[in-house]
Amino acid sequence: MSNGGNVRENDTLKPMDSKQLREYGHRMLDYLKDLLPDAAPEQPENFQHVLDDITKKIIPGLTHWQSPNFFGYYPGNSSIAGFLGEMICSGLNVIGLSWITSPASTELEVIVLDWLAKLLNLPDQFLSTGHGGGIIQGTASEAILVVLLAARDKILERIGRNSMDKLVVYSSDQVHSSLKKACQIAGIYNDNFRIIKTDASSGYGIDPLNLDQAVHVDIEAGLIPFFLCATVGTTSSASVDPLVKIGKITEENAMWFHVDAAYAGSACICPEYRHYLDGLEYVDSFCMNPHKWLLINFDCSTLWVKERSALVNSFGTNPDYLKNKMSQQKNVVDFNDWQIPLGRRFRSLKLWMVLRLYGADKLRGYIRNHINLAKQFEQLVRSDSRFEIVCPTLFSLVCFRFLPYNNDNDDDGYELNSQLLDAINSTGQLFFTHTIISDKYILRFAVGAVLTEERHIREAWKVIQNQATIISNNHIL
Ligand code: PLP
Repeated sequence: MSNGGNVRENDTLKPMDSKQLREYGHRMLDYLKDLLPDAAPEQPENFQHVLDDITKKIIPGLTHWQSPNFFGYYPGNSSIAGFLGEMICSGLNVIGLSWITSPASTELEVIVLDWLAKLLNLPDQFLSTGHGGGIIQGTASEAILVVLLAARDKILERIGRNSMDKLVVYSSDQVHSSLKKACQIAGIYNDNFRIIKTDASSGYGIDPLNLDQAVHVDIEAGLIPFFLCATVGTTSSASVDPLVKIGKITEENAMWFHVDAAYAGSACICPEYRHYLDGLEYVDSFCMNPHKWLLINFDCSTLWVKERSALVNSFGTNPDYLKNKMSQQKNVVDFNDWQIPLGRRFRSLKLWMVLRLYGADKLRGYIRNHINLAKQFEQLVRSDSRFEIVCPTLFSLVCFRFLPYNNDNDDDGYELNSQLLDAINSTGQLFFTHTIISDKYILRFAVGAVLTEERHIREAWKVIQNQATIISNNHIL
């Protein structure tokens, strides 16, 4: 929570010591506990009182992801069409246990995932008309877990369950942490998780030679490479792995190839960014999050697979109480066989409404506008010699840092940049976040809120410059 507890202005100019950190941390954790009763009411309460509490107690404790001055993490878009879709979904509250529990809910999902696949120009292997198809999962983390489990079961089916400890997973060091979590759940531990190091020379994408070498070393050691996750638009810096070159390696070695484009996938509805997905013909599964940057309210993570049977083999259960003629005759899609939970929300409604009420052309314009704004911000950073751009701005994320003006700390500006970020966010005028790449503390400015306009970018930059000046002056004095 930003500005949670009256941080004194001067405190923002130096890092917190551990006593202060404990004090502020406690105040933040106790924020709601002190404001609300410790048990639910016995009798119904007045609606106006509840609403007053939302305004006075809940909203001040939230981070405002829909603010035009929100530039943190990656965006989490909301839109009127998405909101209306959510409202209808909530009102109807159909629970899609299987096709027969609400046929239109499943069928709309199949249709709308084909629509989106066509907008992204995905290879035909991912369309429902062949052996593949798409499904809406809650998050990209769920999607990666589901495909990792399916890939694991597929290979173990072939080589035997007792080969589990020979299975090896590969990714770059820029992969999202959800892969590590998925590996832990799937029973693949650190010894069998190869993290290929990246650096600035390859734009923080995987070097295929390093990958190929790692795969061969493992094969020679009697291990079995079986899963690779590449990313288009990594979490830290929006870097892109070279899919075609990686695809040749996964094909040669019969590995499951997953592509995570949670953030940048949305940009690929524009033909000029689609080339980042070249190579998807090699891919077994592909995921992007319309709930990040395609105007769909959370949650909506779209996953396509080449072989839907791989998911059904891992997740199909067919209990007696769900048996019905349509499912038994395999005439219909039962999405509960493609995912972890049984019940599912009618999430395709909001995706369908956004696509219909805005249309592909407007959506492309929406994405392009954010990318243009990010480029403008990048130009502003470049025009001030106290800052540097750290990696290319491929989409709407700008990675930059304040250059150290002395070597007192000998930490290459780590403390300075972290101090600057705290000082800027403490103004309450904008919010953005950081990452660490190659041991450097990097400031991440992610454009993508629906309401952000050019003036917000200019004003944000002014605040950043002013705080940088205060910090440098303070140091000199
Ligand atoms: N993959 C990438 C590249 C991401 O940037 C993120 C989150 O920002 C995720 C996966 C995780 O997304 P989710 O919250 O949908 O699990």
